[in-house]
This record gives sequence, structure tokens and C-alpha cells, in this order.
Amino acid sequence: MKGVNGIIDSHIHLYPPEATVDPSGWAKKRGEFYWPSLVMPKLGRRSSQGWVDLNRLLRDMDEAGVEKAVLLGWYWENHETCVNQNRFYGKCIQAHADRLMAFAAICPSSGAELSLTELEWSRDNGFIGVGELCPYVQGGSFDDRDWGAVFTWAMENEFIVNLHVSEPVGRNYPGKVETPLLDFQKMIEKFSELKFILAHLGGGLALYEANWAIRKTFKNVFYDTAASPLIYRRNVFGAVALSAGPDKMLFGSDYPLILYPKTESEPNLKRFVGEVKSSGLSQLEIAKLLRTNAEKVFGIS
Ligand SMILES: [Zn+2]
Repeated sequence: MKGVNGIIDSHIHLYPPEATVDPSGWAKKRGEFYWPSLVMPKLGRRSSQGWVDLNRLLRDMDEAGVEKAVLLGWYWENHETCVNQNRFYGKCIQAHADRLMAFAAICPSSGAELSLTELEWSRDNGFIGVGELCPYVQGGSFDDRDWGAVFTWAMENEFIVNLHVSEPVGRNYPGKVETPLLDFQKMIEKFSELKFILAHLGGGLALYEANWAIRKTFKNVFYDTAASPLIYRRNVFGAVALSAGPDKMLFGSDYPLILYPKTESEPNLKRFVGEVKSSGLSQLEIAKLLRTNAEKVFGIS
């Protein structure tokens, strides 16, 4: 590992500049109802969403020692919004190929034909995966033909799939959607050769890797740590290293989410990196989590 400069962040969200200027107006125009409910302040309470542009992202990456980041699509409810997001990401990765990678935004319930055409565009423009996806917001289910078509295409084209998973226990908060863990088990059994990243430590599925059946089926499944300071105590990293093993965890921040809203009003990538380093993991486990696992998953040499 190249010291702190070599960190790879597997879970970042940027939005097109028009969306950042007026999130609720932009979303309304596009028929996006879930996203503003998550990112806009409610009843006088601050939202945990931070707003940044590409330059600020690159500066914050520098400050935190993050060398490369994966720009993840959002689980938009409309195909056109996905296209808009992907064209924006296409420009970002073209301008900063040494720092940024991208996953395509896709809305499978808009129909397989539209999704596959967009996936082909994404592959041809340097994207390496698809997601975050979430049928519980986007419509349909993993069993649908349209969702199956996206997973089959991803398998044939060696695209990695990132899925949003919420933990079924704990407190309720904006962004927490019901994502029954059994649905993920069934779907992964069906697509066991496909490389999945389950976001947010798989809603706790990472801890279930101690289960024999999950261990066997989930051989191509990885877990990112996105938003974990909002959900888990710091000892979760050690717990996952024990249950799933240190090779299956990827550092992901969910930047520009504000991970420490009690004390901060701006995203702070550097602080999260510091917390991972002081979480009690061994030096080797930290190196795997912050870089080398991602190198393998994303094919970076
Ligand atoms: Zn997520």
C-alpha cells in the first residue's frame, strides 16, 4: 500500500450541477419523489446531505489521502434521470481518469430495452459497474424479468453491481427503506457468479457471513462501509473482519453525506479515514480495507 495516499473510496455520490443548485425543483421536474425526501431538510431539521461540486470532491480526496474514488449512480425512479446522471459522470471520469471511476445509474423497472442500451453506452464510455440499485425505491423486484436482464447483462459484461441495503433493525431515519435480507440471499443464489457490492455493510448481511449457507453462496459478494458512522459503532469493522473476513470489506464513505451531523455541518472524509485507522483493525486489515481489496475488485494494478 502506498501509505495514506493510496486509499480507494468505493462509494461516492456526485450530482449534476443543476441538481445541486435547486435539488427539489430539479427532482420535481423529473418526477423523482424519493430522493428529495431524503436530501432536503424536514420540519426545521437539517438534512445530513452535503452539497459539493467536482472540484471540492477532488480537494477533499486530496486532504483525506484518497487517491481514487468510485462515483456511484443513484437509484433514480426514471430512466431519463439515469441518463442525465450518467452523461454527467461520463464527463467527470473523462476529465479525471486517474482519480475517478464510475458506476452507471439504471432504473430496471423502466424496461430491459432502455436499461441495456444505457448499460452499453456506459460500458463503451469507461464505466465499470452499475448501481447503487434499489428495487424497493425504483419499483419491481429482483424476480422481475427486467431486473434479471440487468443482472444477466452485468454478468456477461463483467460489470460489478452495487445494491443499496438497509439494516432491518435499529433506528428509523430518512433513507431507511425496507430491504428484506432474504430477497438478497435468493437473488445472489441465482446470480452467484456475479460480483456484487452490498452497500452499508449489506444491511448487516456482512455479519451473517458467519452462517455456513451465506458463506458458501456469497463467494462473490463484497461489502462497502458507506455511511457506517451514522449506523454503527467503530467496532463494526473488526466484527465484519471476523465474520466475513478482511478480504470482503471495501472502504466507502457515502460522501458528501455528513457522517458526523452532531458536531459537523459539512462532509468530512478525512475524519472517517482516521476512524477506520483507529478502529482496532491490524495494519494488514486496514491496508486491505482502504486499498487492496478495491484494487482486486475493480481491477486496478
Ligand atoms: Zn445506499
